[in-house]
Amino acid sequence: MENKIRFGPAGNEELFYLEGNKSSKQAPAWLRSKGLSAYEYSFGRGFTLKTETANEIGLEAEKNDILVSVHAPYYINLANESDEMAEKSFNYIIKSLEFLKLLKGQKAVVHLASQGKLNRLQALELTKKRLFTCLEKIYDIYDMTNLYICPETMGKYLQIGSYNEIIDLCTIDRCLIPTFDFGHINCILQGKLKTSDDYRKILDLAFEKLGDFKTKNCHIHFSKIQFGEKGELRHLNFDDLEYGPEFLPLASVLKEYKMTPTIICESASKMAKDAIMMKEIYSTLNI
Ligand SMILES: [Zn+2]
Repeated sequence: MENKIRFGPAGNEELFYLEGNKSSKQAPAWLRSKGLSAYEYSFGRGFTLKTETANEIGLEAEKNDILVSVHAPYYINLANESDEMAEKSFNYIIKSLEFLKLLKGQKAVVHLASQGKLNRLQALELTKKRLFTCLEKIYDIYDMTNLYICPETMGKYLQIGSYNEIIDLCTIDRCLIPTFDFGHINCILQGKLKTSDDYRKILDLAFEKLGDFKTKNCHIHFSKIQFGEKGELRHLNFDDLEYGPEFLPLASVLKEYKMTPTIICESASKMAKDAIMMKEIYSTLNI
């Protein structure tokens, strides 16, 4: 992996279409023209992308120095009690990697599991066990050179994926790198992710448990998110003044720690605009 911090959107924002673009094939050149260098393609609702189109997006991404990441389907659940359903989840992760390779990317973001009727510990144990089995299957197909599976920190209490859990799960294999979704983490903390020290606490734990490489090159999702008593409710954009988190305190820690993550903005409909704003905040910091 290269030593470069990158900013970009998840998907195509409204301005992309307003400026006359129609297809994701045009996204890499458009993002470059805006000064961005990352792009997350979502298979959250399934695999509707054609192989041929994925290939073309991948070539465009390479040409424009846009690093693509993919988001695996939302319906993956490694803690599903049915082995048959778990097997389906394995295949969705494998298929996400297949597309990731076509898109010339490196990181596949995955929501690992939901607690369901199990208690937390049972769900965690099952997730870990299934993750081992899934990785065995993956290594039968790919050697995972420059390919990473990035389990994401989740925003609802019943989902598996507190930052402690994700950091712990990422210790089990070299190809697992965390996705820190700081919007989600702020929902779980009920709005208490505020200062640089709050961010340091999370990243320090990652450095301690996962080491330099995985932490410096982690994947980051950043957006403001409205929350309620069960956690995440709705993605907002940077115009919102009520809910957090704010990027500036994180930006200064990223700079201080010389980190080189890919930072993907998932703001509601303005993810490229807000990614540009994050890049500006980061670039103007004098540390
Ligand atoms: Zn996600």
